[in-house]
Amino acid sequence: MDLRALIRTIPDYPKPGILFRDITTLLADSRGFGETIARLAARYAGAGIAKVAAIEARGFILGGALAERLGAGFVPIRKRGKLPAMAIGHDYELEYGTDRVEMHVDAVGRGERTLLVDDLIATGGTALAGATLVERVGGVVHEACFVIDLPELGGRMRLEARGIPVFTLMAFEGH
Ligand code: AMP
Repeated sequence: MDLRALIRTIPDYPKPGILFRDITTLLADSRGFGETIARLAARYAGAGIAKVAAIEARGFILGGALAERLGAGFVPIRKRGKLPAMAIGHDYELEYGTDRVEMHVDAVGRGERTLLVDDLIATGGTALAGATLVERVGGVVHEACFVIDLPELGGRMRLEARGIPVFTLMAFEGH
């Protein structure tokens, strides 16, 4: 099944020069969504994944389905100020300014094998911040997985340089 054909590309969104890779068309296709989760679950079945940590908001859709399939717990990594209990945060650089992701301190236990999930990796800044949170509480990042890689933006290399393996289902040229 050609999952790549189910991704919709929107030029100049959210700003000029960006090709927005929209996974909502993949998610809205029942076979496409099912096949996406099945391919990721096949890769991680038997890997001893205790937690699936996913990044707000599109990562939640994939991560929730995948965690259930793997028999793992689900951990939300959220934008600033959204989590109700005691949380840790990590700031990371954007093109202009900084952003912050947060995670509950008790969401991942020491030594728990954790799979990081988001829809797309571009510069890798968001995923690296998420991985940092998991590692700060003693979790072990097994791998970071995404539906889409934008290889020209170098995110995969950045994560791999930090010792975090990366797996993606497809890649697109450009930004
Ligand atoms: P980065 O931190 O640069 O790897 O950016 C990854 C985050 O930004 C992910 O949560 C993506 O959903 C989003 N993102 C970045 N670039 C795009 C793009 N071209 N199309 C869709 N989402 C994107």
